[in-house]
Amino acid sequence: MDIRHAELVAVLSSEVDVADIVETLKLETYWHRCEHAVLLLADGNRVVVKGGRDGILLYDFETWLGIDIDGMKQRVIKLIVHTHPVPTGPSDHDIRLLSRLGQLESIVYELSGPVEGTIFRQKEA
Ligand SMILES: [Zn+2]
Repeated sequence: MDIRHAELVAVLSSEVDVADIVETLKLETYWHRCEHAVLLLADGNRVVVKGGRDGILLYDFETWLGIDIDGMKQRVIKLIVHTHPVPTGPSDHDIRLLSRLGQLESIVYELSGPVEGTIFRQKEA
């Protein structure tokens, strides 16, 4: 399994609509053969990150999850969207991540998967 820590690709300006960058994210996913995600940080910024072919790892500080940006750990509060280079469906890792973030649902866009993406939800307790 190729799961790597989130690596910053870009900080999105507040005018960007995530729906408008999905195709770009899928192209990047295709070229780099690794998952990409848009994350909401606690400071209000939305960032694009990339990980490995099978997943993106966040730093786990027990009470919060974070990514490293220039040596500083930034708290992640939401997985807005992510991509899969192969259509595997949402992974257990994805569903666990929703629970950890206290988030009800998110959407994954898979290469050769449904154009509208696949919504997945936290498991019922
Ligand atoms: Zn996933």
